Amino acid sequence: MKKIQMVDLVSQHDKIRKELDAAIAQVINSAAFINGPEVKAFAEELAGYTGAKFVIPCANGTDALQIAMMALGLKQGDEVIVPTFTYVATAEVIALLGLTPVLVDVNPQTFCAEPELIEKAITTRTRAIVPVHLFGQCADMEQILLLAKKHNLFVIEDTAQAIGAEYTFADGTKKQAGTMGTIGTTSFFPSKNLGCMGDGGAVFTNDEALAQKIKMIANHGQSVQYIHDEVGVNSRLDTIQAAILRVKLKQLDSYKNARQQAAAYYDRYFLNHPHFQIPVRNPKSTHVFHQYTLKTTGIDRKALREFLASKGVPSMVYYPYPLHMQKAYSSDRYKAGHFPVSELLCEQVISLPISTEMDEEQLEFICRSVTEFCASQTKNVN
Ligand SMILES: *Cc1c(COP(=O)(O)O)cnc(C)c1O
Repeated sequence: MKKIQMVDLVSQHDKIRKELDAAIAQVINSAAFINGPEVKAFAEELAGYTGAKFVIPCANGTDALQIAMMALGLKQGDEVIVPTFTYVATAEVIALLGLTPVLVDVNPQTFCAEPELIEKAITTRTRAIVPVHLFGQCADMEQILLLAKKHNLFVIEDTAQAIGAEYTFADGTKKQAGTMGTIGTTSFFPSKNLGCMGDGGAVFTNDEALAQKIKMIANHGQSVQYIHDEVGVNSRLDTIQAAILRVKLKQLDSYKNARQQAAAYYDRYFLNHPHFQIPVRNPKSTHVFHQYTLKTTGIDRKALREFLASKGVPSMVYYPYPLHMQKAYSSDRYKAGHFPVSELLCEQVISLPISTEMDEEQLEFICRSVTEFCASQTKNVN
């Protein structure tokens, strides 16, 4: 059996190695390392794929969030609503810009921010909502966009984990993750669903004026060379990464398919299991399974992970602590017990290996190993 990894990038790249090598060689031959033609070509192709009118590449997904907030003119003291159960990057840039992250709890089934709780968190200082399409499925965008409209707020979709996921509105309109709000942001970190070979990110918007501003901010605040109208940052996607991403974008549908098939295998195995709850699908969104995350009950998660590791099966806990329990983001406003759903999820969740290259032998071995662990626990109890 092939060695089981959380993500198997070597096998993924082996299949398209010739094309990748040629794309990289082409950039080396041209020596157009900064803002080479591949960057613009990739941005256009990604716009075509996602349906976003404008795609502005940048250096990573964290920068994408920061640039989005700068472009919206958010100012010190403005409040930005963000789920407490997420990766730290989302809240980090809010804090770095002197904005106030206002945390909200998530839905216990979909793990995404709960619209009702978002509404309760809105104050006169709220300027934006940052839904995170966690683990690969869209947050409740219809309700979130209605709230944003009602309260005149921006929506920045953190799409780092959900590129290619599709959301269906009540009227039947379908839109891709990252293209529904004011701005969408994504990451091309190697292990993301569309990953490059280093760091990369992008910002999406359908608003032309905003697109110009985002472009300017990502490029030192200049629209004309040496004329700086805004304080900006230096955040570029390398040409080599863009060339790699152009090759990999062509595979994104097949990657999505492979992840969904692995998830379906796990689903069949864990459906109605006494100790595991399979990922609950939001009926309005497709799921692109950046992670396959089970909720555990009545078993010792740590012992399970150790048992799996002893069998050569890696697992991860995304995330062990909610943001309000992290020293950097705790504040007098939030105490343990404040966001019970997220706190419980942090104790319950376990993510199993999922990647584009998994075969049935590996999937079966992982499932059987989990079952073996459960059987051994029952024996111990009796
Ligand atoms: C990965 C990730 C980011 C950050 O992306 P980087 O490219 O690593 O900066 C932001 N938000 C979420 C939800 C992520 O998973």
